[in-house]
Amino acid sequence: MQVPFLDLKPQYKALEGAINARIQTVLNHGQFILGPEMLEAERDLAAYIGTKHCLAVSSGTDASIIALMALGVGPGDEVITTPFSFFATAEVISLVGAKPVFVDIEDTAYNLDVAKIEAAITPRTKVIMPVSLYGQPADYDEINALAERHGLVVIEDAAQSFGAPYKGKKSCALTRVGTTSFFPAKPLGCYGDGGAIFTNDSELNKKMEMIRVHGQASRYNHVMMGVNGRLDTIQCAVLIEKLKRFDWEIAQRNRIATAYNEGMGSLGHRCVVPRMRADRGSVWAQYTVLVDNRDQFAADLKARGVPTSIHYPSLLPHQPVYRELGLSAGSWPVAERVSARCISLPMWPDMTDEQVAHVVKSVREVLGA
Ligand SMILES: *Cc1c(COP(=O)(O)O)cnc(C)c1O
Repeated sequence: MQVPFLDLKPQYKALEGAINARIQTVLNHGQFILGPEMLEAERDLAAYIGTKHCLAVSSGTDASIIALMALGVGPGDEVITTPFSFFATAEVISLVGAKPVFVDIEDTAYNLDVAKIEAAITPRTKVIMPVSLYGQPADYDEINALAERHGLVVIEDAAQSFGAPYKGKKSCALTRVGTTSFFPAKPLGCYGDGGAIFTNDSELNKKMEMIRVHGQASRYNHVMMGVNGRLDTIQCAVLIEKLKRFDWEIAQRNRIATAYNEGMGSLGHRCVVPRMRADRGSVWAQYTVLVDNRDQFAADLKARGVPTSIHYPSLLPHQPVYRELGLSAGSWPVAERVSARCISLPMWPDMTDEQVAHVVKSVREVLGA
């Protein structure tokens, strides 16, 4: 049996009529930029997450750039973040001219370790930007309290965690600003690049809205530097329909994660399954385990028709460009250990029971269980 790593086709099949009709409406009215579906999607997304405002933007990367620009983060400033994430997390900090300061992760959910943040705060620190990795929120109550004591802003990089529950709230609404991505493979994806910014701060939202369109306050009246960061109306139309299925999809992802945990949890240290904090949930952007001899494990699974992927094989400060910028000196022992052992298994909402069972059986066989 061959299992794909991710298969978005069944999802489209389920929503085909509704999505096609929505796209056709946009084709008919012709407002491809800032059309009515954008406002509708923003209203739906803000209502779902529980924030006052939502701005639909061109990508998760642009969402974070716009948030940082609106907060006035730039040259001379430092932003504390994790060394264990997708490159964009640090890239956006560097792009606005600030310096990423990498703080090690904790060993349960592999998110920023609150206990290690304080030692990294300097007079130049302006923002703490945690990532809710693989879909599980970081320790936002503690991080927000720490930030408040030091007069810092917290931005959640929620690119992998849109809507994940945390103490009665949802990821994207846990900090002053939350940014997410609608890249097709993310928990809520559109049919191209896309992203969104969430906040309850109306003044900040106004500023971010202007930055999204070239710092424009009114037509051809530019009051600050901005970017071209709008989300196409067609992508918004897709999101409106896909959001309606999202809760069902997350329930499916949880069902699959539970089956994986039950099938592999008994393997102990040979296959360390994801550990969940009792006060939060995950939207399972990835189901990632830790194994020894990862290359052999991946090859043996591939031979059984089970593809894998590595999130992430090296730390951000160890990327060539950060070596060049002189940011690679430092020690992140937990992130290094996790990065050397992590491997993600197939996970998407429309996985069949047979596919899930085949992945579990294959992992157990490969590990000699
Ligand atoms: C995907 C991702 C991004 C970037 O999102 P894009 O929409 O691809 O620009 C940023 N941070 C994290 C943690 C991500 O996983």
